[in-house]
Amino acid sequence: MMFDTDTLQTLLNLPDLAIDRVVLGERRTLQIHVHSTLEGTHCHRCGKPIDHGYGLGQEIKLRHLPVFDYHTVLVLRPKRYQCHSCEGRPTTSQMLSWYSPRASVTKAFEQQMLLELINSTLEDVSLKHAVGVDALQGILDRRIEPEVDWNGIETLEVIGIDEIALKKGHRDFVVVISAYVNDRLRVIALLPARTKAVVEAFFRSIPKRLRRTVEVVCSDLYQGFIGAAKAVFGKRVLICADRFHVARLYREGLETLRKREFKRLRRTLSKASLDELKNAHWVLRHRRADLNADERRLLNRLFAHSPKLKEAYEACEALTAIYDSRLSKGQSKRKLRGWMRRVTNRKLTCFDRFLGTLETRFEEITNYFVGRRTSGFVEGLNNKLKVIKRRCYGMTSLKHFYQRVYLDLNGYAKFGTVR
Ligand SMILES: [Zn+2]
Repeated sequence: MMFDTDTLQTLLNLPDLAIDRVVLGERRTLQIHVHSTLEGTHCHRCGKPIDHGYGLGQEIKLRHLPVFDYHTVLVLRPKRYQCHSCEGRPTTSQMLSWYSPRASVTKAFEQQMLLELINSTLEDVSLKHAVGVDALQGILDRRIEPEVDWNGIETLEVIGIDEIALKKGHRDFVVVISAYVNDRLRVIALLPARTKAVVEAFFRSIPKRLRRTVEVVCSDLYQGFIGAAKAVFGKRVLICADRFHVARLYREGLETLRKREFKRLRRTLSKASLDELKNAHWVLRHRRADLNADERRLLNRLFAHSPKLKEAYEACEALTAIYDSRLSKGQSKRKLRGWMRRVTNRKLTCFDRFLGTLETRFEEITNYFVGRRTSGFVEGLNNKLKVIKRRCYGMTSLKHFYQRVYLDLNGYAKFGTVR
């Protein structure tokens, strides 16, 4: 066998199990057959500890975190026990701490999926990890509970508040609350609705001892979230607008202009000139520094036809540069004010919506520069993965057709290997 079981057991990092055998399946799947090393359980009826063995239950399969890039599935037959105190001697299957009843994935895998779902869609995460949409929905359903077990949490410090889109088209959301617990980013709660009332009620449900430990709330620009945080935590807590969400907003402005300009160019340019601009929309999503010589030439060709697009693109790059500089809050305010003036003077109306948000959320947006905190997810995974189902620039093979592309903190598309 290519893995020795001790090493594998360490990699799995799960308690109370021993590995019996490992089967290497198709499509890089590792089936690890395990058995429980824990003795006894509690009777499901009377709750007393029981240890009269009653054989093994039905085989269950639990998806776990990848090992060496292999999809990993744990196969287990739970131990069963009989209660001699209850009438009819009912049997109870033993459950181990690392999975929940009826789950098809381990708790560790569940956490990972929850983190990746933040600001993403079920479809994207489903494609990326080859997990069914139904299984993901099941994870969410199990986790949408009003009660959080606060006992294991000592401090909160930074709370992230984001959302998960349930359906394609971002019509339906659940709210995700994340925090670093014992130095690990964790999803601590899922809320069923995206209203100020629901979020506020959740914040108020945090025990006082923990509420006092909150220093920063990192949110997207949604007014309900910010309003709820302000209402509960007041001035004592720094509320900052997550950088990724700000970037998404100004890049939306560029995208709007891009669509308008392409429409105009399709009317006015010759077929030959248009062909030369093929894939230019893709290049526009990258920062100039990340482009190769061919791509830069393409960008310049496009800008020759659309000076407005050039100005807007450069405005985006200027914002990214502001975010990337180590500025104080005061400095960032001056830089942003300068940016707003330039954009207004040049009549770059594609940023109107963003300018409005910048104006109303100026404090929260510049609070980012105080501690450079981003919501847990962005910090933790450092990128947003997105499956782009279209053919990408310069990529012709089928392999690249489903190339995974992620957006970095500044909202630029980047290629990356999926972990
Ligand atoms: Zn019993």
